[in-house]
Amino acid sequence: MFYIYTIMSVEQLCEQNQEHRYEIVELREKILKLEKIIKSNEKVIWNKCEHEWEWDTACGMYDRNCYYCKHCKLWRNHYMYQ
Ligand SMILES: [Zn+2]
Repeated sequence: MFYIYTIMSVEQLCEQNQEHRYEIVELREKILKLEKIIKSNEKVIWNKCEHEWEWDTACGMYDRNCYYCKHCKLWRNHYMYQ
């Protein structure tokens, strides 16, 4: 891989970086979009699921959300899903 980059010209490398930057922008937009969908799904899940709370054994003494639902995996904190 490194060898390929060393035989490329400065112009080619700049061009390639530009393409990568465009791709990063597109991927970031995709991540934001997916996060929004996840958030809105979570709101629906929060209201629809008949939660059964379980203690998270990995939870530290001072963590606020120590319970999660064993069906939907959401945390027992409605502020997170408003
Ligand atoms: Zn649930």
